Amino acid sequence: MTIPFSHLGPVPKHFEYSLKEDDFNVTFSGDIVRTKLYEMATLSGEITGRVTLECDLCAESYEEELHETVTFRLTDTPHKRPEGDMGEQDYDIIEVLDGNVDLDEIIISEINAIKYDYHKCEACQ
Ligand SMILES: [Zn+2]
Repeated sequence: MTIPFSHLGPVPKHFEYSLKEDDFNVTFSGDIVRTKLYEMATLSGEITGRVTLECDLCAESYEEELHETVTFRLTDTPHKRPEGDMGEQDYDIIEVLDGNVDLDEIIISEINAIKYDYHKCEACQ
């Protein structure tokens, strides 16, 4: 699912979207609001559901409940970002280059980041 960046305004736009793949089944819900600052938007939401992880000790696959709170800054004009702006480093910045906020891409990159973490299955705890 994509949300056109140009449709975002000062009134928070709520979204709720489910995505299922072989190794996860999640719902991504939250709000996106346009801020005046540097033509950026702020997305805050949560990704909940189940993800299949691989244990780093025994290599067994196992399912884990997911509850991730995420906040991103979105911008469609990255060149306007002033150099040396250290104020927003708490958030990941996503460049919306084709004019659409791609929720699938955000979900998949979050899940991949979780997978790259170190995991132990219950038996190995
Ligand atoms: Zn294990």
